[in-house]
Amino acid sequence: MGAAILGNMRFTVGWLYPDLMNIYGDRGNILTLLKRAEWHGLEPNLVELGRGPAPSEMDDVDIFFFGGGQDREQALIYDDLREFKHEPLRRVVEQNGAQVLAVCGGYQLLGHYYQTADGQKFDGIGMIDVTTQAGKKRFIGDVVVRTEIDGLSPTSLVGFENHSGRTFLGPQAKPLGKVMVGHGNNGSDGTEGLVQGNITGTYLHGSLLPKNPHLADYLIGRALTRRGGGALSHLDDSAELAAHGWILQRAQRR
Ligand code: GLN
Repeated sequence: MGAAILGNMRFTVGWLYPDLMNIYGDRGNILTLLKRAEWHGLEPNLVELGRGPAPSEMDDVDIFFFGGGQDREQALIYDDLREFKHEPLRRVVEQNGAQVLAVCGGYQLLGHYYQTADGQKFDGIGMIDVTTQAGKKRFIGDVVVRTEIDGLSPTSLVGFENHSGRTFLGPQAKPLGKVMVGHGNNGSDGTEGLVQGNITGTYLHGSLLPKNPHLADYLIGRALTRRGGGALSHLDDSAELAAHGWILQRAQRR
């Protein structure tokens, strides 16, 4: 679908807990989704979804972003997530076909639970088949992933990780990719992130999408399919992919 056909179709990004779940530059994912939607001829719109009852605008969201947060912030929002956001989020994602991009702390809470290193257990909402248990050592540093998402080019994703959680995928979940540099989901099974239905989870901060424009357009394109959208027009991503290549080289030199 070219920009002309998209013709200012409204494209809505729903930002879960922008005040609390927003660390290590994760706001850059919101800026990328909104700007690339505009470049693709869409009319970008942002709905901020803080704590409290879900607003009716949540039904119009095309892609939700759920960013990272330290254990403290996760403790402040996980009750709200279960009480106010779980039901509408599940409905809009599973019935309306909205996409979700969840990073680190947000990724963990979409699963069955996240248990911190000091034994606190935050029940998740079980929209993805993962469990997370914090370890003693934090995983911090550059990450390079070889994606397993069909058709994504380049097949690499680059980012930065900083987490204590070790996430393990259940049978309903597929890895986002294989770890080439860094630790990824748990530092032991060689997987990073998850793809399950309309949900993409990852440990990649950085922020992720500015240096992985191919993943951004993959998510935008999938979100548009619910309205009969097709392939997006080609954008000049030379600057973004130069940054991607620079991180790739730096990480592989380490
Ligand atoms: N608090 C979680 C952990 O340490 C998530 C951290 C994050 O979002 N970067 O694993």
